Amino acid sequence: IKIKITNIDIPVAFASAFEGEIIRRGDMQVEFDGSRVDCAELVQSAEATEIEDHKITVIGPEADEMELGSKNSIAYVVKVAGKNMQSDFEPVIERKFHNYINCIEGVYHTGQRDMQRIRISKDAFNAGFRLKHIGEVLYASVKNEFDAVVDKCEVVIYTDPAECKRIRHEVAVPTFNKRDDRLKSLTDESVDVYYSCILCQAFSPSHVCVVTPERLGLCGAVSWLDAKATNELDPNGPCQVITKEKCIDERIGEYEDVNEAVRKFSQGALEEVSLYSIMEKPMTSCGCFECICGIEPFSNGVVITNREYAGMTPLGMTFPELASMTGGGVQTPGFMGHGKHFIGSKKFMKAEGGIERIVWMPKELKEFVAERLNQTAKELYGIDNFTDMVGDETIATDPEELVAFLTEKGHPALGLDPMM
Ligand code: SF4
Ligand code: ZN
Repeated sequence: IKIKITNIDIPVAFASAFEGEIIRRGDMQVEFDGSRVDCAELVQSAEATEIEDHKITVIGPEADEMELGSKNSIAYVVKVAGKNMQSDFEPVIERKFHNYINCIEGVYHTGQRDMQRIRISKDAFNAGFRLKHIGEVLYASVKNEFDAVVDKCEVVIYTDPAECKRIRHEVAVPTFNKRDDRLKSLTDESVDVYYSCILCQAFSPSHVCVVTPERLGLCGAVSWLDAKATNELDPNGPCQVITKEKCIDERIGEYEDVNEAVRKFSQGALEEVSLYSIMEKPMTSCGCFECICGIEPFSNGVVITNREYAGMTPLGMTFPELASMTGGGVQTPGFMGHGKHFIGSKKFMKAEGGIERIVWMPKELKEFVAERLNQTAKELYGIDNFTDMVGDETIATDPEELVAFLTEKGHPALGLDPMM
């Protein structure tokens, strides 16, 4: 018998009303920041015998042993066991930590994996909130939401800096890499089905993402494996199976079955969608895309910019300006939202020639995708160090200067057919 835990034993409130709560520096007791110190959040499946249900351990200093206003390390490992548990469910459970921790009154959370940031307010701290209560929240929420697969759950919270470093580099990062590698070995051709995701319909009612192994959801947080796991965990939930038996046009990646699914899940708002084209029937965008890609007519190429980059692009528009014309669940040929990991994919704008159309990206994004992008360019076109041919804000933010740079580098887009 499974019992729903309705009352979580913590000294502050727990409700979705607190999800948007922001904690300013001056109101903060302590913070944890994965971009500065060693942090991690991880779900690990284990044997039932290895887990003591509802055990919560803090290894290292508690919040009341940390200096007011200080930045600290934190790594929490949520161990789960259940006979229906699969390791593919781990990232799906992990991704929910963001919502769970944000629902705590006076606690704020962003990011994921080893890049999370948490702030605890002075008010929550003074009410008695401690790190062990994060464990209580994770325990109760995981047991509640994933009762179909989790029978036992134990939480270990590390704050000792040396332990956090060990957990991050020796346990968490290798796990993340293994997951990413598993996904990398899959191609769109090697699987029988794709998945829809309609999680964003709450605020973008006609939007549907079609998630394939080589094209993750535009939010960057839902890979094909995640969508598959979400579907198995909740068969009537946001991710549904889409068959891909009736190919209409291989070049742009259009399927009768995908169109049917998109029509159904968009309540008829969307008729046809392609998987691999930005010009013909492109996929729609909600509002949470990591990146936006848009055509740059002077170079026959495309410019990509990401949410973190606040500056100007050679299109004469910033990310928010591009976002305002790309989002909302409508098709906007020439522009599309996408995840960062899609940039190195062989399916990125395949119909228009693929990644050799990319002429500009913010420097940070370029560095983030360089390894995979270079590898894909080498495989597809035999080009070495393709990223060096791509402009960024330190080179040019004006189309004329950009074209001069691309010409000097012999960028392949200049020799391609115009996109419109
Ligand atoms: Fe799902 Fe797409 Fe929203 Fe990501 S952006 S949560 S894949 S609908
Ligand atoms: Zn969205």
